[in-house]
Amino acid sequence: MRFDGKVAIVTGGARGMGASHARGLAAEGARVAVCDLLDDEGRTLAESLPGARYHHLDVTDEEAWQAVVRTVEDTLGPVDVLVNNAGIVHFGGVEEQSPEHFRRILDVNVVGTFLGMHTVLPGMRDRGRGAVVNISSAAGLMGFADGIGYVTSKWGIRGMTKAAALDMAGTGVRVNSVHPGVIRTSMGEGAAPALFADQPVPRIGEPEEVTRMVLFLAGDDASYTTGGEFPVDGGQTI
Ligand code: NAD
Repeated sequence: MRFDGKVAIVTGGARGMGASHARGLAAEGARVAVCDLLDDEGRTLAESLPGARYHHLDVTDEEAWQAVVRTVEDTLGPVDVLVNNAGIVHFGGVEEQSPEHFRRILDVNVVGTFLGMHTVLPGMRDRGRGAVVNISSAAGLMGFADGIGYVTSKWGIRGMTKAAALDMAGTGVRVNSVHPGVIRTSMGEGAAPALFADQPVPRIGEPEEVTRMVLFLAGDDASYTTGGEFPVDGGQTI
């Protein structure tokens, strides 16, 4: 199996796409640290996966990141894979979005992703191996109306991925971003069908379809791939 003996952290792993990524990694042999704010859902999921543990983690909290990564390394082992998946959305255009919502989106989506890499990458660099997969969005490849904060945050994740991939040059550590289109989760389900009706694959996507890309980038099949951006969006961004 592709992740036999490997340790993976998945943020926002209690439900939606994060839960799918955790299931996919565990099914291929990884010991997964499911990290989220949703303790009941996260614990239930971790108990159902061989070798998995649940950790309460607010990705915006730097000290919590340090504590969780220490505990994961003590209990499961050194981290081989980090999937920065936790994210939030508040809709609103440039005139309507409150500065509080704008700041909160950037805090969770951008600062949370930065803190994950900032905490985990030094160990990966020292060990000379590791893969980070940052979950951006189709909104990180194009503009959308009524999503000023979300679009800004997802472009931020895409740029941060390339900067970090260059920082890790020559170390054996790879960093890539994945850009889902409209996906059937609590976040994506409310999207208007018009958003995907005209795309080349004219339907909503399933979390498992994104998981297959995440697993590819997290594993050795992607050994020559870093700093890349990978749409899983039914062709929405062509
Ligand atoms: P979701 O709302 O079902 O899951 C998001 C998870 O992140 C939840 O479990 C939530 O508790 C967790 N989370 C939120 N804030 C957190 C914080 N501060 N600390 C830790 N965990 C936190 O949504 P989803 O659709 O599964 O989204 C997963 C990722 O995919 C997000 O980054 C989202 O922006 C991105 N995305 C979603 C879609 C879509 O259509 N569903 C499309 C493109 C990108």
